[in-house]
Amino acid sequence: MADKERILKTFKDLISINSPSLSERKVADYIKAALAPLGFEISEDDTGAKIGGSAGNVTAFLKGTVDAQPIFFGSHMDTVEPTEGINVIIDGDIIKTDGTTILGADDKAGITEILEGMRMLVESGKPHGDIKLVFDVSEETGLFGVRHYDTSGLRGYFGFIMDSEIPAGAFTMNAPSDVTINVEIFGKAAHAGMCPEKGISALVAASKAIAKMKLGRLDEETTANVGTVSGGKARNIVPDYVTMRAEARSRNEAKLEAQLDHMKSLFRDEAAAMGAEAKIELISDYKTFAFDKDADIVKFAAAALRKIGKEPVFQNGGGGSDANIFNEKGVPALLIAAGYNNAHTPEEYVSISGMCDCADFVAALAEA
Ligand SMILES: [Zn+2]
Repeated sequence: MADKERILKTFKDLISINSPSLSERKVADYIKAALAPLGFEISEDDTGAKIGGSAGNVTAFLKGTVDAQPIFFGSHMDTVEPTEGINVIIDGDIIKTDGTTILGADDKAGITEILEGMRMLVESGKPHGDIKLVFDVSEETGLFGVRHYDTSGLRGYFGFIMDSEIPAGAFTMNAPSDVTINVEIFGKAAHAGMCPEKGISALVAASKAIAKMKLGRLDEETTANVGTVSGGKARNIVPDYVTMRAEARSRNEAKLEAQLDHMKSLFRDEAAAMGAEAKIELISDYKTFAFDKDADIVKFAAAALRKIGKEPVFQNGGGGSDANIFNEKGVPALLIAAGYNNAHTPEEYVSISGMCDCADFVAALAEA
């Protein structure tokens, strides 16, 4: 069983360190100091130098004592902001802040659970196969750490990424592909009072397109959003330029393509109808993945969970995580809920019992 007091200490230590993306140095050092006494071989790659951060991705390796399925655990060392001046409140089983900062349980709960699970494994002396731990940087700003991670050392491994919301220990079976859509509309400026008829409003063209667009939740596996609109120079000038950032996500590639076509055509057609021009750029942020319940990695995880007396909870994913990138790179990785909730808001919280359950699960996965 996980040591509740030790979990609490590790978690409090970690959230007291400010580690926004690109500033993960102190968390990396904390993890290294925690793992060295357990017999891990620890290395750090040069991703920090490549992306302008203070730390690289940390990999820790524990040689197997028996021949068994090699596995790795992952969690990210950065958090969103703000965390400066964090004031932690423990209310029974719940850890939260006073509401002026986020908690940073995304993903310091994941790190805590992995460290505790490894301490449990080593203390128990139970047999295990090769184990790797991957603590990556700059996940929150676009999965940059894991994009730069050399996964050649993970061939044949099953990965478990401890990083998503409640219920603690739930398996996220799939995640969407996500495409960023950058739109620029070029109209024509004119004095809004003296000769508005000479102008072409890029803003009106954008508005007409958006008004006709299918947005929000389109079906069970597809969503779309226009997130930002900016443009225009002054009250008395017909706006000649508008730029928008939009997105579409789906777990179904055909539906994603159809939605992207729909959005592109509306921006193009509505702009053209007014004599304006739309320039559209699509950027694929990450690719979808999906596991069946009878996939080897899922059966492996379910068997480990049953060893500690629990049944798997399966859920669908709506966002991107390191698991998307590992799977895209050909390394099977299942996203496991670290048990926090309301991530990226001042209402973020995590339960101590959830972290204990996840640590038990990590230890169970690691035992051969
Ligand atoms: Zn996260």
